[in-house]
Amino acid sequence: AVPVALVAGLSRAAHFGVLIKGAGPLEALARITTLILDKTGTLTDGRPQIVSITAQGALTQDEVLYFAAALDQASQHPIAQAIVAAAKAGGANLPVPQSIVETPGEGVAGTVDGRRVVVGGADFVAAKVGSAGTDAAMAGSVIVALGVDGKPGGYLVMADALRPGTAQLLAGLRGLGVGRILLATGDRRAVADAVTQGLQLDAVHADLTPDRKVALVVAEHQTGRVMMVGDGVNDAPALAAADIGVAMGARSAAASAEAADVVLLVDNLDRLLPGIEIAQKARQIAV
Ligand code: ADP
Ligand code: MG
Repeated sequence: AVPVALVAGLSRAAHFGVLIKGAGPLEALARITTLILDKTGTLTDGRPQIVSITAQGALTQDEVLYFAAALDQASQHPIAQAIVAAAKAGGANLPVPQSIVETPGEGVAGTVDGRRVVVGGADFVAAKVGSAGTDAAMAGSVIVALGVDGKPGGYLVMADALRPGTAQLLAGLRGLGVGRILLATGDRRAVADAVTQGLQLDAVHADLTPDRKVALVVAEHQTGRVMMVGDGVNDAPALAAADIGVAMGARSAAASAEAADVVLLVDNLDRLLPGIEIAQKARQIAV
């Protein structure tokens, strides 16, 4: 039978919006030593704004937004959702793409109005159309590139702010025994370094595919008990591989919420603190 203290802990955590999927995960949560954080939608607030749109080739800025948004309707990525929302807010009438292939964490390729379109990270687009045509001066910014009919079509610069209070949160987690804190992102090195500046993380890993996020979790598991926090489809395998997988908020992808041991029902990373505190108290009483 599950000790009463653990059951009480589960219900207390739920009051804070921390859904813990059973007594096993509750106990594991109490003993975490290593935290791996995804960037977009986890460390950042996941409501990116479009800062600028650059058109290339024969496209206009409106067309860059139109084609990017048309394909990104198929993606749950927070950046994709921001692009779709901005296009609709600007009055665009988005068509249903004739074909769509999403590569989670990298981008989407497909056919829009009979044209071959690709949208996503600069490397993803460059791999499809030869070059992404992005500006080196934008190295530290989140960039979404566009390719149309085999050529660079332009790019959007996005601002994606850190969640407020992140530094204090990480200090609090260290106080609860989480001595090692890392970033794992599918985004580029310069963006990862810029956004984590001042956070004093123990390591920052960039350019990670979903498989390489899993490999990082496995490597860290050699020396610690690992909690991985993420929100995307691209995070789901890493969440499943971790000692504790945590899915972010009500807006996280269904695949990541399913793979996780803990779901933060509110879109608030701060809830990790009461979650771990409650788990530690419940475990002290139960053992
Ligand atoms: P993280 O692993 O930190 O969540 P991202 O998922 O943001 O990293 O992936 C990195 C980059 O991939 C983004 O900055 C963006 O350029 C690009 N990207 C991934 N998926 C999409 C998409 N569906 N639409 C547009 N850009 C995307
Ligand atoms: Mg993410």
